[in-house]
Amino acid sequence: IPVDPFDLVIFGGTGDLARRKILPGLFRRFCAGQMTRDSRIIGAARGDMDETAYRDMVREAIAEFGPSRSEACAVEDFLSCLGYVSVDARGDDGWCDLKSALREEEGIVRAFYFSVGPSPLKKLAERLRQHGLAHDEVRIVVEKPFGHNLASARALNEELARHFDESQIYRIDHYLGKETVQNLMAVRFGNMLFEPLWNAQYVDHIQITVAETVGVSGRGSYYDKSGAMRDMVQNHLMQLLCLIAMEPPARFDPDAVRDEKLKVIRALDPVDPDQIVRGQYTSDGAMASYREDVENAASKTESFIALKCYISNWRWANTPFYLRTGKRLSDRASEIAVVFKETPHSIFGIDSGRHRNVLSIRLQPNEGMTLGVTIKEPGPGGMRLVDVPLDMTFAEALGPDAEEAADAYERLIMDVIRGNQTLFMRGDEVEAAWAWTDPLIEGWERRGDSPKPYDAGSAGPDDAAFLINRDGRRWRRIK
Ligand code: NAD
Repeated sequence: IPVDPFDLVIFGGTGDLARRKILPGLFRRFCAGQMTRDSRIIGAARGDMDETAYRDMVREAIAEFGPSRSEACAVEDFLSCLGYVSVDARGDDGWCDLKSALREEEGIVRAFYFSVGPSPLKKLAERLRQHGLAHDEVRIVVEKPFGHNLASARALNEELARHFDESQIYRIDHYLGKETVQNLMAVRFGNMLFEPLWNAQYVDHIQITVAETVGVSGRGSYYDKSGAMRDMVQNHLMQLLCLIAMEPPARFDPDAVRDEKLKVIRALDPVDPDQIVRGQYTSDGAMASYREDVENAASKTESFIALKCYISNWRWANTPFYLRTGKRLSDRASEIAVVFKETPHSIFGIDSGRHRNVLSIRLQPNEGMTLGVTIKEPGPGGMRLVDVPLDMTFAEALGPDAEEAADAYERLIMDVIRGNQTLFMRGDEVEAAWAWTDPLIEGWERRGDSPKPYDAGSAGPDDAAFLINRDGRRWRRIK
């Protein structure tokens, strides 16, 4: 279904995110007929560039990061919807040009995507109002990182609130736009099968893993001030945790969903330092170490973190949630695993072992879900039990287009145009997440803790394995 015609201004329209994700994503929506020809995309950034040069840049970006097969004429049609204006968010130049590039007609949605990094945000919001570009219907999209801690997130929220109503602010966490993440809600609340078992009585523990093979080279100066806790846990992993743990919202609408997520964050216990393992990758000979990548030989920033936390509420009391994420690990894999309790008694005798069901929700690669079930091992060997996966890979189940259509950014941008905030973080959610992470970070900074070294290409530091093994459990294999 096509969305309403729109004028979308991408501040940072020449940046890496715009070229890799936002513009190719919009092109896919254009090809799918969701973005119609009467919509306009205006790149806005520092630096002089005419419209032709901008379209050339976007043509190249689509060739590199767009759909594998794109019709040349579709690309040209899409490019004809593009414009470019040179604007410095901190200065006064360019705003009149930008204003005249926008249409004032009724029925045209106006949105501004702030893809410029944190420092110009405040000025950007201010300038939009000052120069009369922001009426009460416009939407602004704000990229991560949203603050560096609670104080800065709160200050940014207050600043945005001076110019925009909360209903106009779309804080992006692209994990929420992933097909599997939305499917998590469909599975939980669209089936009778799972929800009765989704609690401390039947669930032994939950693991959330986001493992990356890439290091931090290229973004070293940003990352070294951030680390895995700020870069990944405070936003992406906590959002996943919220969706897996929240109570059923009464309706699938923005505030009903976000109220429930907020309750999860507020119910999180503080984490003891001995339940947190931080790591930093070392060189494997071929590739640089973390400290070389960030050019800081004394860095104590973590490129890996694993922790155990608890949600103190009726549903999850005493159920551990194990979270881990890191860079330069053995494989790229993101998964949420709900590990159910063992059957209380085996009728098949001791030899058959005790079995647990595991629901694995894979975010990447091969987005999909697998439910591990126990069956009889085929053959005449007697009543021997074996665990087999009931597997659903979305690309297989939904056809070859599923993978191609599944990019998170394009879905979220379409939600912005539709005015649907369900999959965007509300200001109080972001602040609550920082309120939980800040004391953990302050704790290790105060103690001067150093992260544990781990080999590039491994599963992280050994201590991360001990963190879960000492509870009689083990991490799911990354590879
Ligand atoms: P980038 O450095 O590649 O691009 C920044 C863009 O912002 C450029 O177009 C630049 O001209 C513009 N810009 C910077 N300051 C400006 C100013 N004062 N006025 C006008 N334009 C200005 O950065 P990026 O990687 O594209 O990241 C953009 C945002 O998206 C950042 O907030 C980043 O944290 C976030 N983000 C990026 C990625 C990614 O994969 N690149 C992923 C998630 C989030």
